[in-house]
Amino acid sequence: MNKQDFNEGLLGFLDASPTPFHATQNMALMFENAGFIKLNEVDKWELQEGSKYYVTRNDSSIIAFTYPKSKKDYVMVGAHTDSPNLKLKPNPVIKEHGVVKFGVEPYGGLLLNPWFDRDLSLGGRVSYLDSNGTVQSSLLNVAKKIAIIPSLAIHLDVQANKERTVNMQTDICPILTTNEDFDFDDFIKWQLANIGIHDAKEVYAHELSFYDTQKASYVGLRDDFIASARLDNLLSCYTGMLSICSVESEKPMLFIASDHEEVGSASTSGAAGSFLENTLRRMFASYDEYVEMVRSSIMISADNAHAIHPNYPSKHDTNHAPHINKGVVVKVNVNQRYASNSA
Ligand code: ZN
Repeated sequence: MNKQDFNEGLLGFLDASPTPFHATQNMALMFENAGFIKLNEVDKWELQEGSKYYVTRNDSSIIAFTYPKSKKDYVMVGAHTDSPNLKLKPNPVIKEHGVVKFGVEPYGGLLLNPWFDRDLSLGGRVSYLDSNGTVQSSLLNVAKKIAIIPSLAIHLDVQANKERTVNMQTDICPILTTNEDFDFDDFIKWQLANIGIHDAKEVYAHELSFYDTQKASYVGLRDDFIASARLDNLLSCYTGMLSICSVESEKPMLFIASDHEEVGSASTSGAAGSFLENTLRRMFASYDEYVEMVRSSIMISADNAHAIHPNYPSKHDTNHAPHINKGVVVKVNVNQRYASNSA
């Protein structure tokens, strides 16, 4: 694949993946097209040597692996599907001062200022009761620009450029409409109807988050940079996905993209959960074979690194300041937050 195709594919993947659910769905689609067979965690697995498989958990984490005759020396790559965002509260609707706005909670460690004055949309997963009395789940992507978080004018906040702080509870509520008849359940049912689901009787719960609708693009005199939301860590999801799709089925490789890295990875679909171990154990008949595989293999935890900021160079150690577009960064940490060692 040439650089142009690689970059174009990345831009498309970023735009099509506004939430971990959509990233997982897009990777699953890519794996299907590349001949990977879908596994379900609740079924019995009968793996065939020479085949390639993928499995998802919580619709937001995914593992793909080859299953060659020789199952040692796996190259494993891990990435994460989630990015910081503004997540909708369970009861989000606030009607006041002539508008309808949504209450949101910051997900992960995010910089709040860039969320102001952006054209925002909403996506994620909803659970609803269908006409047969069954609880169903569906992904949603509103796609349309439905909200904005307006900055306060400089005249009303003369110190804004000196000491602006953001109150997470009151200052970052996206504003949706002046239609005070707005009903949240009707809004969700209308979104479901737009994707062909017409029998949603009641909306039970949702995991929806706002995202910036500005598309991923090249920036710079020579298209030097790619600017986008969610590069951390959809970039590594994209490279890991392309890697495993391009290897022969006789090459031992595994790729995992986990949710909830931005909030500590401790969930069942997070990297500290059981998803990877459960999957690896099921690839082997005995515990011995499983441990042999793990100890002979290598795992690369792939994520974004901060390049030196040209306007804030003092924030970096001079001898350890990565320059943008100069290649891969290997991170080390004395507290072993990264697993890198000299070998
Ligand atoms: Zn990351």
